Amino acid sequence: MSENKNAVLLIFTGGTISMSEDPSNGALRPIDFNRLQEYLPELKQTGIRIKSIPFLPLIDSSDVQPAVWQRMAELIQENYDEFDGFVVLHGTDTMAFSASALSFMLENLSKPVIFTGAQLPIGMMRSDAKENLLTAIEIATAQENGQAIVPEVCIFFEDTLFRGNRTTKKNAEHFSAFNSYNYPALAKAGVHIKYFRSYIHYPDPSNQLRVRKQIDQNIVIIKLFPGISQQTIHALLNIPELKAVVLESFGSGNAPRRTWFYNELKDATNRGILIVNKTQCSTGSVEMGRYETSLNLVNAGVLSGYDCTTEALVTKLMFLLGEYSSIDDIKQRLSISICGEMTVN
Ligand code: ASP
Repeated sequence: MSENKNAVLLIFTGGTISMSEDPSNGALRPIDFNRLQEYLPELKQTGIRIKSIPFLPLIDSSDVQPAVWQRMAELIQENYDEFDGFVVLHGTDTMAFSASALSFMLENLSKPVIFTGAQLPIGMMRSDAKENLLTAIEIATAQENGQAIVPEVCIFFEDTLFRGNRTTKKNAEHFSAFNSYNYPALAKAGVHIKYFRSYIHYPDPSNQLRVRKQIDQNIVIIKLFPGISQQTIHALLNIPELKAVVLESFGSGNAPRRTWFYNELKDATNRGILIVNKTQCSTGSVEMGRYETSLNLVNAGVLSGYDCTTEALVTKLMFLLGEYSSIDDIKQRLSISICGEMTVN
């Protein structure tokens, strides 16, 4: 065993998990990281070497920007050889976006990157922070024959490990805050942690980690609703510098059959804007051309987002637009699963 075995880097970005109640007035404030062991005395018993890097200042995840994803990716890159795994403590609100973004940015990842957070601050009595963090650390160091059991970007919450780019925040109240509607869980934590290996992606170990950090934010999400006006669609599709659209459609990928709608979409795709169809349903996939109401979209040059989450599609588009300049290269990569983010039949 090398001296680096069982070493985890904790990257604290912020969110509820990094907070504690001020006993004098009950207000939530960021914890002091030098006193982390006081909140989690169990950390010592794990025998795992733990180093923490806090973001200064800590941020609520609603304030996360692509620069934060880039910083996380850099920290993982800089510390990659020294640690067996990485745990990212992050607010739950945009955790699924960050985990999705990192899954694209960390190419050939062979070590676990486990995002976790909490619904109640770490310093509160009924907090879910302790269990979430300790189990995430255990998963980040779990190995078999010298290989990480889960070499993926994941989200661990309550008792379930999900593939990060398949996950969505589903609940603002319950401890079970996330779900992966279109892909099975990668592990369940009960008395033992049970890993479902056939669902875990194992990379070719001969490939080296490659961190790709270019992001292009010139995208927009358009969520359709009955009665959406031409003026709205026209304004959104003509945003200066716009490069891509996530079109949130109905059911299996359907949209109004109005001529003006078709013309607006066709005009945008002719101008080189990528439009990707994402169903508003949580479960299931876009099936372009199944109904007449999606045939128009095919004819207008709209691409299928298959069963991707909105979080994965948004970050995939930002990543592809940042990393590739040829629209054909981007379209080709939109039609395949890069790191398990969608099921293409
Ligand atoms: N607003 C918080 C955040 O996302 C909520 C949380 O941490 O769960 O940063």
